[in-house]
Amino acid sequence: MLFSEVAESFSRMSATAKRLELSSMLAELFRKCGEDLRMVVYLVQGKLAPDFSGIETGMAEKLIIKALSMISGSGEAEITKDFVESGDLGQTAGNVLKSRIQSTLVPSELSVKYVFDSLMKIATTAGPGSINTKISLYEYLMMNSSASEAIFITRILNGKLRLGVSDATILMALTEAFSSKEHQEAIEESYNFHPDMGMIAEHLREGDLDTILQTGPEPMIPCRVMLAERLPSVSQILEKMGGKAAFEYKYDGLRTQIHMKDGKIRIFSRGNEETTANFPDIARAFGRTFRCKSCIVDGEAVPYNPETGELYPFQVVSQRRGRKYSIESVSQEIPLTVFLFDLIYLDGKPMNRMPYMERRKRLGKLFRENEDFKLARQLVSGDEPEITEFFHQSIADGCEGIVAKNVTDQSTYRAGARGWLWIKFKRDYQESVSDTLDLVVIGAFSGHGKRKGRYGALLMASYNRERDVYETVCKLGTGFTDETLESLTRIFEPYISRTKPANVVSKIEPDFWLEPVKVMEINGAEITLSPVHTCCIEENNGEGLAVRFPRFTGRWRQDKRPEQATQSREILELFQMGKNPQSR
Ligand code: ATP
Repeated sequence: MLFSEVAESFSRMSATAKRLELSSMLAELFRKCGEDLRMVVYLVQGKLAPDFSGIETGMAEKLIIKALSMISGSGEAEITKDFVESGDLGQTAGNVLKSRIQSTLVPSELSVKYVFDSLMKIATTAGPGSINTKISLYEYLMMNSSASEAIFITRILNGKLRLGVSDATILMALTEAFSSKEHQEAIEESYNFHPDMGMIAEHLREGDLDTILQTGPEPMIPCRVMLAERLPSVSQILEKMGGKAAFEYKYDGLRTQIHMKDGKIRIFSRGNEETTANFPDIARAFGRTFRCKSCIVDGEAVPYNPETGELYPFQVVSQRRGRKYSIESVSQEIPLTVFLFDLIYLDGKPMNRMPYMERRKRLGKLFRENEDFKLARQLVSGDEPEITEFFHQSIADGCEGIVAKNVTDQSTYRAGARGWLWIKFKRDYQESVSDTLDLVVIGAFSGHGKRKGRYGALLMASYNRERDVYETVCKLGTGFTDETLESLTRIFEPYISRTKPANVVSKIEPDFWLEPVKVMEINGAEITLSPVHTCCIEENNGEGLAVRFPRFTGRWRQDKRPEQATQSREILELFQMGKNPQSR
């Protein structure tokens, strides 16, 4: 297949934000790909391989500019100027090529395979001389590209493809192209256990649905984590759970998925990033503690005071997470206990379809509790006063509240799903107000007065999963320390977009559009109907929802990808419950 067909399809996709249209365009493209499907699917994701492979697409902006200058004969300063003006290196590459093509013959025809292999070489070449190799590979691609091809190749290399399609839409398109709607949920489930879009695509194209349906958790391949719904009272939780549930402490730490196979241990975060290097002490202790050949366990890593055993708040772990150096000394200062609550795989067998209490029983048999690993504290009960007391005890012991877990035969491990099998109940809900929200930053406003030269406020959005778009819910201008305010322009600089990102729905025009990437935790006074915001506007008879008096809690949700932010549907539910986000 020619890369020009992919570029042409990408151009058309860039012009729409409608999920169904995007999905049909993708399905049409996928059907044409033949053997090249796997590569095309990764390219649509802006990748060359699944995240867990550790292969990162990319070439430094400076090198791209240098190569463009060599091709065009224009100075690097001139190319940089064009880049600053367009805000998009892909567009700059297109501009450079346009002027060159006018004076040259029609470009030769690049195949998808050639483009993909070149990008892979650029990504994986390392060591002495690798910079020159990367530049010449890119140069060759550009010399043989049309302007439109150059735009997309460069955007992929620059890590900013900006097609605005989520994994869910790609899966929808693959199902449309090669299977039928009735299998969509099962295909999504397999992907959530084995997040390799290329592999799923290939099996679907070959008509091998069985392999996909049998795809489950596999050690060393991180699976999407299971998530909880929320309810504001114990009685409502009991009702939803059918009168009885397993209630567990909700520890305030870092979600931690640990994999073991053939003596090797890998640790993954809530967002499936590998964090083994940040937690060498956990990895070592796991090897010492666990008696099995292979497994995947799920839990929450919480820092504690080694003198008193008291649990520390989450922020202490996040400070440690980003550090690459002196990890060993940090781990002595801030030891961690991992409170385990689930077993997803054990010794060659997936455990995800087993009922929860059976998984937990097997988990308990795998190790003896010590300072490094404990089982999450649990109470199985249907008695409201007893559960309420357990909840108060959880707070006294330094936790955020409790998580109720379904104990019926239906209580499978649902990777990547937020469902009613788990329901959280936090301290904040008790204080007659509700939970904090994790919102995505999609725009920024220039500051005035004391904030001149900096951002004065940010435009925040929730994620509408059903429509795969980000919808605005508030302007956020409070809760920032001077230090944070100072750093906002630097933090958001890489995400500035000349135009409104295709997957954003907004009636407000901020001074700067930002790619929906960063997630911030906010609290607010209440949720109200709003004529200016677009949250749930389709689902709520044309009226948007807004968070009043939003305030940044100071916590960046680096562990959440934008699609994992608070969903518009959750905000609608909070509005309907008459419950408000947490107010402090
Ligand atoms: P929050 O911001 O409230 O932690 P979240 O969006 O990160 O929520 P939820 O699914 O809403 O995630 O709440 C469950 C989270 O609580 C899990 O992701 C996990 O990190 C944490 N947690 C702590 N203790 C437990 C437990 N015993 N069982 C399940 N999750 C737990």
